[in-house]
Amino acid sequence: THDPLAPDAPTRESSARSYPARLPITLTWGRGARVRDTGGDEYIDCLAGAGALALGHHHPAVDEAIRAALDSGSPLSTLDLATPVRERFIEQLFSVLPAPLRAEGRVLFCGPSGADAVEAAVKLARTATGRSGVVAFGGGYHGMTQATLALTGRRSAKEPLGALLPEVHHLPFPRPYRSPFGPVDAATDADLAARLVAWALHDDYSGIAAPAAAVAEPVQGEGGVHPMPASFATALRAHCRQAGTVLVADEVQTGLGRTGTLWASEPIGLDPDILVLSKAVGGGMPLAVIVHRGALDAWQPGAHAGTFRGSTLALAAGAATIREVVQGGLHQRAAELGERLTAGLRAAADDPRVGDVRGRGLMVGVELVDPEVTEDGVPVPDGDLAAAVQSEMLRRGVITEAGGTRDAVVRFLPPLVISDEEIDRVVDTFVAALAAVPK
Ligand code: PMP
Repeated sequence: THDPLAPDAPTRESSARSYPARLPITLTWGRGARVRDTGGDEYIDCLAGAGALALGHHHPAVDEAIRAALDSGSPLSTLDLATPVRERFIEQLFSVLPAPLRAEGRVLFCGPSGADAVEAAVKLARTATGRSGVVAFGGGYHGMTQATLALTGRRSAKEPLGALLPEVHHLPFPRPYRSPFGPVDAATDADLAARLVAWALHDDYSGIAAPAAAVAEPVQGEGGVHPMPASFATALRAHCRQAGTVLVADEVQTGLGRTGTLWASEPIGLDPDILVLSKAVGGGMPLAVIVHRGALDAWQPGAHAGTFRGSTLALAAGAATIREVVQGGLHQRAAELGERLTAGLRAAADDPRVGDVRGRGLMVGVELVDPEVTEDGVPVPDGDLAAAVQSEMLRRGVITEAGGTRDAVVRFLPPLVISDEEIDRVVDTFVAALAAVPK
């Protein structure tokens, strides 16, 4: 008979899976920042549902909220129909939104995944403006559906597919390490990227017809952890306003405290017209929403639909998670823990294979490089090294993500409830894993 848990069992899943190649484990238990596999080995989980588990695994408040929703007898799936659980989620979400959206925003439930919400944001911007073009950024990640893949700024992810969403124009995202503008300082890099936005949106010779939307992450996640500088954010905000372009902040990964503030767009002055949320706001359950300015509400009834938008259990888990993050000041905690993690990793940077350590709050990445090969005076990203370090870290009990150019950035997205001691263990494990990979 087929034992699906046997180590040599033939897979019945498609080849599209990526994590199992790097993380060949079968997980049976999770609590807080810890998970265990079938062999009983325990790991610190710095993947945490790709950042979806702000409160970690089985936080008592989340478990309790899900149980209460079940015990209440509330219908589990109601499409757009109101339930007390749904109304409470909306109340809870609005109580913590950035000020402009709290005052006059409208929420739309979009489906189970972040990509669903990005799709809805672009569709709304097109509907509201009557325009079709979209500006997005190199290295951006917005999902794997056809339209969101078109927005994603990674050629290798979409090359075989031919035409996706037409009229998407990618501009350079500011990133001082290996800047597309060559060896320049961070301020110059941000300034040049902002000038290109101005050129794309206003200059007749850019050839880009006035775009409906500009879509950006306040910290690029999958693209290798690149925080957007405030000077660029305010410039992007101003140029979009001037051009009548709807500014969409994709906070699917950054939202709800991960970057040290509740919303990553707030401290940098991005001030989006549409905020895209998923992952953490569902408390680990599938949920995605957009919140948009009231003036953009150009939807006709029925213009955007879908069966699974706001499942009762996800709304219950999400409301509990928002409450816990805010009441527990977990965003502030993420800022402190992020400092600790980044400082620890930077201390390991005397190894020439550590090219750059960067992040904001508990969204941290280490770009690993081949010091022997340089381009523009900067060592090239080394994806093989990152994969080897990731494997060594797994063997030592820490689960990480990878992203960025050539997947050479080891990424850390632990739950916001991770402890100081666990952060220190993550750092020590990174140092040990890097040392274990021959130079
Ligand atoms: N936007 C961002 C910024 C993301 O990080 C992700 C997922 N990593 C998505 C969109 C897509 O979300 P999903 O995988 O739920 O479709």
